[in-house]
Amino acid sequence: MKSQLYGNEFVEFVQEIYRTREFIPLHAPCFGDKERDYVLDTLDSTYVSSVGEYVNQFEGRLSEYTGAKYVVATINGTAALHTALMVGGVQLDDEVITSPLTFVATCNAVHYCGARPLFVDVEWDTLGLSPESLAIFLDDCGEIRDDRLCWNKKSNRIIRACIPIHNLGHPARVKEIEEICKAYNILVIEDAAESLGSFTSGVHTGRIGQTGILSFNGNKIITTGGGGALITDDKEVARRAKHLTTTAKQAHPWLFLHDEIGYNYRLPNINAALGCAQMEQLPTHVNKKRKLAHQYKEWFSKKDIEFVSEPSGASSNYWLNSIVLSNIEDRDEFLTYTNSHNVMTRAMWTPMHTLPMYRSCYRTNLANAEAVEKRLVNIPSSVV
Ligand SMILES: *Cc1c(COP(=O)(O)O)cnc(C)c1O
Repeated sequence: MKSQLYGNEFVEFVQEIYRTREFIPLHAPCFGDKERDYVLDTLDSTYVSSVGEYVNQFEGRLSEYTGAKYVVATINGTAALHTALMVGGVQLDDEVITSPLTFVATCNAVHYCGARPLFVDVEWDTLGLSPESLAIFLDDCGEIRDDRLCWNKKSNRIIRACIPIHNLGHPARVKEIEEICKAYNILVIEDAAESLGSFTSGVHTGRIGQTGILSFNGNKIITTGGGGALITDDKEVARRAKHLTTTAKQAHPWLFLHDEIGYNYRLPNINAALGCAQMEQLPTHVNKKRKLAHQYKEWFSKKDIEFVSEPSGASSNYWLNSIVLSNIEDRDEFLTYTNSHNVMTRAMWTPMHTLPMYRSCYRTNLANAEAVEKRLVNIPSSVV
């Protein structure tokens, strides 16, 4: 068995990269002086909460970086997803297509709308939703009825939306996915929580669907402590999203007029301050992470172990670097060895269709997702 041997050499290699023999986490945040300055500035100003200039500034910086016309900052990525689904009209008993290889938040947000996830398989190349599997599924089960909506013939539910995920930062083939969905009148919402800094043909992830969502949780490429954002080019979508995330309050100098049930989802100013400082570091973070990925790739190619590279035509932020081992026994041996030697490694997300709350959801053949989960290992990926 070789992963014992390589586990040992691997631990030494990672210790060399991070120049430490102490515990090496999977992904730690990286702060400079600006972070401290901006956060202290919000304390001095007392504007730490839902009102303040840093929130607008943070949205502006995200808009500039991603190229999206509108950005709405939220308390976390899950809230951004929930909002995107509500604005997209997802409602009770609808189905929303997604892949089972994702962080549980994707499916939870669907559930918050009273809708159900519908699982279609991933492809190995991108680890994202497979356009081929999607087309086969829709060809087989999708039916446009008199209401112009796409119904799942088998479950007799409306398929309202599709959420492709840019897994581990690698861009999914959203252009193909969007073309297929368009023919069936299915809305695309991109889960770009992990892929800030990833582009396909120069277009930032999250920009092809009606909306894209980002996350700034502590383990993502940049962090606001907790935070998220919704990006879109559609003015009306942005207006609705802003309204829903700010308790649906109408502008008025002194009255509290709320015209529907809204949500307290606005990102606080203190978090946005951290985000503004982090945005200044983002280009450097992306470069350093791509460099680290290159180092890993070279090392693993010498060991004859498969390193997960960015899909062709795409530029990945390499949020989490990962390798593919031969089988689940090798995976577990590698995980056991590295984690007991102060180097944090993790398996892929447990596929959603195997979790108790999503076990009964409609699904297609998910052989790839199941195989990826049995073989893939995430390795330390903090900015060096
Ligand atoms: C992190 C993440 C989210 C949710 O982000 P939070 O900010 O933690 O709510 C959603 N989807 C994916 C794929 C993620 O990795």
